[in-house]
Amino acid sequence: MQPVARPTTWQPVAVEVSLTTTDDAVRVLTGRRIVALTGAGVSTDSGIPDYRSPDSPPRNPMTYQQFVGDEAFRRHYWARNHVGWQHMHRTAPNPGHRALARLEERGILAGIITQNVDLLHQEAGARNVIDLHGRYDRVICLSCSRVVARAALAERLEALNPGFAESIGAVGDIEIAPDADAVVAETAHFRPAPCESCGGVLKPEIVYFGENVPRARVEEAYALVDSADALLVAGSSLTVMSGLRFVRRMARDGKPVVIVNRGITRGDVHATVKIDDGTSEVLAELAERLSPRPSVQVMAARH
Ligand SMILES: [Zn+2]
Repeated sequence: MQPVARPTTWQPVAVEVSLTTTDDAVRVLTGRRIVALTGAGVSTDSGIPDYRSPDSPPRNPMTYQQFVGDEAFRRHYWARNHVGWQHMHRTAPNPGHRALARLEERGILAGIITQNVDLLHQEAGARNVIDLHGRYDRVICLSCSRVVARAALAERLEALNPGFAESIGAVGDIEIAPDADAVVAETAHFRPAPCESCGGVLKPEIVYFGENVPRARVEEAYALVDSADALLVAGSSLTVMSGLRFVRRMARDGKPVVIVNRGITRGDVHATVKIDDGTSEVLAELAERLSPRPSVQVMAARH
């Protein structure tokens, strides 16, 4: 099996999609059991930058192999994570997250598969969420597989590096996804924490570039997708296969795919409807206008 999240050579190519409005999306999605697939674009209105959007800073993602194989990369990663994590902890859901949670609550949305690690869907109240690329609040030991809370590690990192976060404010942009920027001098003296059980290397429980999404998680996501009869993609350029494969699955099965994203996506060729717009506004409007499936209405009427 090939790594599913990795740097890619895909270049955006414009594809003409004839249906492009929210009206079209409402018409296509009404009465269907929907699953959402979300990416970084959903969280930009919560202040978390989308490194893939057209006006993003250039980015050189750290690979799993670099993280595992090079102590300097790990030190640099943990230094930035130590600072950026605190920003992530303070972010809040936006209208797009809340719209999806509302659609789920009303029985219109069966669940969410997200490429984000920020947990903002759950914070907005969504319950059936598959964190495809992991979650920022957990850390795993690469030797003994022990999982610990990121919050507990924060205290240990602070004890090992007193005052570091304050001293390095200028580098402290939100940096949760792995990044292989040149190792800056300011982070060279940072001391990462080893696993408390075995002394092994700790890694955020986040899927890195060059790393596979755990198989059980992929199967769970496929099962969710197969249970639906429409896919709503929001805020993802679908550049990596980890998300694109669910779009291909729906298209293969002849089910409609609605994509809401600013800019071209790799899934546009499979899109029934493509709305080139921000996710917060469009998802909020969809939540206003979509009605529950008839069977759900009947069930509700009986109670
Ligand atoms: Zn360990």
